[in-house]
Amino acid sequence: MKVAVIGGGINGVMTAWAFARHGDSVDLFEKGRLMSATSRSSTKMLHGGLRYLEHGHFGLVREALQERSWWIRQAPQLASPLELLIPIYRNGERAKWLVGAGIRLYDLLATGSGFPRGRWYGADEVVERFPHLKRDQLLGAYGYWDACMDDYQLGLWAAERARESGARLHERTTVLKIDPATGEVSTDGPIACYDRIVNVAGPWAEKLLARSGVTSAYRLDLIRGSHVVVPGKREQGCVLQVSGEKRILFVLPLGDKTLLGTTEVSQADPDHCAPSDEEINYLIANYNRCFFEVIARQDIISSFAGIRPIVASKTDFSAASRESVIERQGRLINVFGGKWTTSRSLAEAVVTKSQH
Ligand SMILES: Cc1cc2nc3c(=O)[nH]c(=O)nc-3n(C[C@H](O)[C@H](O)[C@H](O)COP(=O)(O)OP(=O)(O)OC[C@H]3O[C@@H](n4cnc5c(N)ncnc54)[C@H](O)[C@@H]3O)c2cc1C
Repeated sequence: MKVAVIGGGINGVMTAWAFARHGDSVDLFEKGRLMSATSRSSTKMLHGGLRYLEHGHFGLVREALQERSWWIRQAPQLASPLELLIPIYRNGERAKWLVGAGIRLYDLLATGSGFPRGRWYGADEVVERFPHLKRDQLLGAYGYWDACMDDYQLGLWAAERARESGARLHERTTVLKIDPATGEVSTDGPIACYDRIVNVAGPWAEKLLARSGVTSAYRLDLIRGSHVVVPGKREQGCVLQVSGEKRILFVLPLGDKTLLGTTEVSQADPDHCAPSDEEINYLIANYNRCFFEVIARQDIISSFAGIRPIVASKTDFSAASRESVIERQGRLINVFGGKWTTSRSLAEAVVTKSQH
């Protein structure tokens, strides 16, 4: 089968690799450079997503918890387990028992993944690990395990595996139009016909369909998430509960620096994605609310933003919370949403969906 994959983020790269392993002839088209958009602007966690448990997404969490181990086994030089602490304060956003129950469920869903189990740390132990954490009303912290990665390098590693399996990866090639009926793919270079076209253009997936006159049963809400990099080497991660919101904030090791993220802001156009002043102030304010060694604007080393395409069904509003959707329309397969962590299993599902 001849397959065109549109988009060179992690979902496109993993899809190209999966089809190539399956013995198909694959062309991947990326308008810029591989791994240059959302997939290198993530929080850099290979994780199940503890927060998704609150929404009852147990299947998704279980899948992601197993997938993170796959990445670590494949590329231990670029992905490693990381312990994260969730400080619990008296009268905090979530009660101690609730966080504890969440960690126990997380561990249960991770059974067989080879990760250590979560545990409770008393306030003294927490402050030993995070000496600048504010102690007032601190009860202690739950520690749990996930993994961190170099999203850019790990994606390039996967692209190399795709190439070795025979996929042709065309960078700086924009797909202008697609035709689900004939399989025609028009690029700013040549036009060719394919048995299957996989639209994995991430936040741009809807734009490509609109340009091609193709309608989908799904609609995307584009939500920007921003991060800042600040000085300070950390051995562990910390999850802060944002006051007055259900949101959380990650404080993570990033080499010899610290990564803070993220935000959730609606964005109309996927191009020109950058953190706003308000988002940077929000990240700093929430960090400073919990730590003594305050961060000032001038301490910020760098910042970046990515766009999460959140899938909503045009007909079924309950589908809005789904993490990813694979939609088949003739020769076209649209992939909407998804997580970095689950890109391998998503790619396998796309190959399966393309078979009949
Ligand atoms: C702020 C934030 C934090 C996140 N953190 C995590 C995390 O810690 N862990 C996790 O598992 N997931 C995380 N995610 C989710 C994860 O980053 C995404 O699910 C994943 O990167 C999406 O990859 P993608 O390949 O679908 O999209 P992208 O990486 O955006 O790739 C799409 C590609 O398509 C290309 N393209 C678009 N249109 C065309 C065209 N017409 N022709 C050719 N090429 C085209 C673009 O240039 C782009 O490179 C996060 C997401 C965000 C926004």
